[in-house]
Parts: sequence; C-alpha cells; structure tokens
Amino acid sequence: GLRWGIVGATTIAKEWMIGAIRETGGEIVSVMSSDAERGKAYAKANGIPHSTRSLATLLAKDIDAVYIATTNEKHKAQTLAAAKAGIHVLCEKPLALKLSDAHRMVAACREAGVVMGTNHHLRNAAAFRAMREAVASGKIGRPLFARVFHAVYLPPHLQGWRIRDAKAGSGVVMDITVHDADTLRFVLGEEPVAATAFTQQGGMGGAGIEDGVMGVVRFESGLLAQFHDAFTTAYANTGFEVHGSEGSLIGTNCMTQKPVGEVVLRNASGEHKLPLEPENLYVRSVANFQNAVRGKGTPSATGEDGIRSMALALAVLKSAQTGREVAVEPGL
Ligand code: NDP
Repeated sequence: GLRWGIVGATTIAKEWMIGAIRETGGEIVSVMSSDAERGKAYAKANGIPHSTRSLATLLAKDIDAVYIATTNEKHKAQTLAAAKAGIHVLCEKPLALKLSDAHRMVAACREAGVVMGTNHHLRNAAAFRAMREAVASGKIGRPLFARVFHAVYLPPHLQGWRIRDAKAGSGVVMDITVHDADTLRFVLGEEPVAATAFTQQGGMGGAGIEDGVMGVVRFESGLLAQFHDAFTTAYANTGFEVHGSEGSLIGTNCMTQKPVGEVVLRNASGEHKLPLEPENLYVRSVANFQNAVRGKGTPSATGEDGIRSMALALAVLKSAQTGREVAVEPGL
C-alpha cells in the first residue's frame, strides 16, 4: 500500500476514507489540521501517528500521496504544494471554486509527473458501472433521457460551511450537482453541452446560498437529463434513470455513499434486475488511485473529470443566476 498524508481533519476522511485507505493496505502517516488541538485529537481518535498544522511539515514526511478533503477553497493551494513536492494527489470535489484554478491544479500535477484523482465516489458504485455497461452495449437502444434524483437531507453534523460559508464553496450545486455531472458523464459516455436550472432557498441555506436545485442538461447526442438536488428533503428517494428507444434503466436508492441500490432493466421482455456485486465505493476509488500511482491505469475519476464536473455545476449556477441557457465549457 501507499504511505498517505491526510490534509484536513474532516468528516469524510473519518467516516470513509481512512478506512478505505487502510483496507487497500495503505498507511496513514500524518494528518494536517489548521487547529493543533483538533488535529491531535483527530489523530488519536483515528490511530494516526502524527498531526501537524503545517502542510510543509506533512509533505516533508516520507509519504507517497495526499488525500485533500479540506473545504473547497483550500484544495487549490494544497494541491499545488503537493505537486511541487512530487506527491500524488487524490482531491475531493469540487476541485476548486473557479474553473481556472482547477486547470492550474491539473496542469501542476501533470507537469510534476504525479497522479491526480478526483474523489467522485459514485462512478465506483456497482449500480453505475452496470448502467454504463448496459448503455454502452445497447441494452436500451438509443438513450434519449436521463433523470437524476439526488435530493437528500444534509445531516445535522454537516450543517456547517456547506450552508453558511460562501467563501468555502457552499451551496448544493457545488456539493451535489457536481456528483450528478460526473455520474451522468460516466453512465452515458458522452459530454454535456448546455444547462438550464432554477435554484431554491428552502430555509436551510444562509443568505444567498442555494439549498435546492432543479435543472435540465443537454448532451452531445441530444439526450436530455433532468436533475433534482437538495439538502432539505428528509423523505425523498434517490434514483438515477436512463430511458432509451428500446428500454429503460431504473436505478433506485443509488445516489449514496453506501454500497447499496438496485438497477432494473425494463424492456419489451419485461423487467430484469441487473446483477450487481456491491463493493465499498471508497475502497475502489483508493485502489484505482493506488494502481495509477504504480503505473497501472488511471484513477476512477481523473483531474480532468473533476474539471468537467465543475464546468457543468458552474453552468448550472450561471443559468440560475441569469435565467438563461448556459453552455458547458470545461476548456479541455
Ligand atoms: P468537514 O466539515 O468535516 O471538514 C471540513 C473542514 O472543517 C476540515 O478541514 C476542518 O478543518 C474543519 N472542521 C471539521 N470539524 C470541525 C469542528 N468540529 N470544528 C471546527 N472545524 C472543523 O467537511 P466534509 O468532510 O464534510 O467535506 C470535506 C471535503 O470533502 C469537501 O470538499 C467536500 O465537498 C468533500 N466531500 C466529498 C464526499 C464524497 O463522497 N466524495 C462526501 C463528503 C464530503 P481542519 O482540517 O483545519 O481541522
């Protein structure tokens, strides 16, 4: 396994990624927190031998890779510093707040010869891998429409910067729509070209911060995808559907961190559940990243994938702000 530094004493690392790294044989050497006491307590609680307030100190340890999961405005500088130190980067989504920053991050990693991955977990799920395969092999004929149901309830322990701090990259679009964007691209195997959307302030988000969104995206082939994301709905179901000329794929309970959900193929011969072998999404993400570091394949989602998911999310925000259709322009 790789030797890792964790950048950010975060919930996602504690709940999923520390375990995933260890499950792939990885070793966690140190964690960085902006607060010395919290860093110490976090290291102790998670069995990490060192903590530090200084990124330079973390990068000077004998490590191969960093997992960057700080709030979104910090990803850029931390990625640039890691690349400069010759350390591979697995970065959380959204990569940054501005597309030009995400481009700089990807370029810095490429120039330094280090692997960069974006931790879009959903494309690691058995449900989405099965849907991608079904679409690519023509099981639903020509795909015409997709629908993404990703309206959830932000749990109380996460009701912090996501709904309050615009400087940290708050709002449901940069938090959840980026995942829809990546999952749509992954399942459909094509690129979005334009978006229209309305955002909502449903009572959870602070001033000017959207906590709900609905929109429509047009893809290269003419396929239309609708999406619904929220922080405010405790009782909605999640799902992901693709409807084609010869059949429909209906995924239920699949927009989640957990290895659950099912997919039904419905066509002229009836309904069939697709066989799925559920696997921890984050373990698969780390395993593919580790293989890429060793020269085998690419991370599940690359830095470029992170640019593309951001480009769609930014188009969605711009459409909501301007009341117009906005072109998706990743600049790649
Ligand atoms: P957290 O809110 O848990 O952590 C973000 C930052 O807040 C930390 O870096 C930490 O600062 C600070 N912090 C954490 N706990 C406390 C506390 N008790 N008091 C004061 N400050 C605290 O963020 P998440 O783990 O929810 O998200 C982190 C990143 O991961 C984001 O970029 C997010 O978009 C992404 N994410 C991705 C997911 C995925 O499935 N791909 C899922 C969830 C999040 P410091 O490090 O300085 O101590």
